[in-house]
Amino acid sequence: IRTDGVRSAPTESYPDVSPSSSRGSPVEDDDGDETPPTSADNEDSQWQARVKEAMKSVARGVDPTALQQVANEIVVKGDEVHWDDIAGLEGAKAALKEAVVYPFLRPDLFSGLREPAKGMLLFGPPGTGKTMLARAVATESKSTFFSISASSLTSKYLGESEKLVRALFALAKALAPSIIFVDEIDSLLSARAGGENEASRRIKTEFLIQWSDLARAAAGKASSIGDPSRVLVLAATNLPWAIDDAARRRFARRQYIPLPEAPTRKKQLENLLAAQKHSLTPQDMEELVTLTDGYSGSDVTALAKDAAMGPLRALGEDLLSVDADMVRSIALHDFCESLKAVRPSVGKEGLRRFEEWAERFGERV
Ligand code: ADP
Repeated sequence: IRTDGVRSAPTESYPDVSPSSSRGSPVEDDDGDETPPTSADNEDSQWQARVKEAMKSVARGVDPTALQQVANEIVVKGDEVHWDDIAGLEGAKAALKEAVVYPFLRPDLFSGLREPAKGMLLFGPPGTGKTMLARAVATESKSTFFSISASSLTSKYLGESEKLVRALFALAKALAPSIIFVDEIDSLLSARAGGENEASRRIKTEFLIQWSDLARAAAGKASSIGDPSRVLVLAATNLPWAIDDAARRRFARRQYIPLPEAPTRKKQLENLLAAQKHSLTPQDMEELVTLTDGYSGSDVTALAKDAAMGPLRALGEDLLSVDADMVRSIALHDFCESLKAVRPSVGKEGLRRFEEWAERFGERV
């Protein structure tokens, strides 16, 4: 933790934290435990101690229960995604490296004119890898990853949302470098959220205030605890046109994440089939790549999963008694069957809308 400017002397005492998806043991084990701690346990208790420290350091006026909730439910630990797990999207990866990863790893090189953006929007059809990219950015930049879907702010956390938003930004600064990933950002920053209902209007306002404060603090124009210059709001949407104009302009970078091109689909299919028994020749693979034109990354995954069931379906009731080694390989015809059932989730018309928006407001890869 960067400690510059961090105020100490907490007033409240905070309970122990155990992030929901962490691997580990409680923060403080009883003495005399017989099993020696593993390195994962060690890592976990170091993490717990770091969170505890960060929670103490945040500004007064931030609700301790909300902080706890952020630490437990919104900070994502474990299940890391790396660049290589994501097929294709080379342009988007390069943009994210330059905009986030390098500045976070080398803040000394990225100041003044090279000051990194405080907000980046990933937009495109559903299932194209936006969430995966955000998680990879967090892994590769060694950042704390805060992940929240905007719709849960207006449903699950409704009533507590404003406190939660304040706690989210406070903890992100204290645990910097941090990525605040907001999925379905359209539901938070749409013109509708601003007008229709009082509660969601207030959450939207609070989010925009916290976000502006972050930028002002990073520029040295407001005091802050933690390291605001290394906190980025990374947001994803399948409905970029729903975001209102003012909110859209706050995203200094807007990155289009399109449907995968042929080489990307090929790489993804190869990855998916790598550990499977299959009989696809290189020509079959080429044919399959052509047949999956218009499929998103998640459509391709769904297709491969369905096709992998083909050899089992062919067994019928024999499935219960068959020797596992005797199950036949996955073949092209399994994919051809599955192509009838698993259809692309975005049609031509829908795609055109993304292309037009990207042309007007986005950066293309
Ligand atoms: P989005 O956030 O754009 O809706 P996700 O990142 O959640 O999409 O992707 C959904 C699923 O689709 C992933 O879990 C993965 O299985 C698959 N997928 C999508 N794009 C890719 C890709 N480029 N490489 C590998 N898998 C992908």
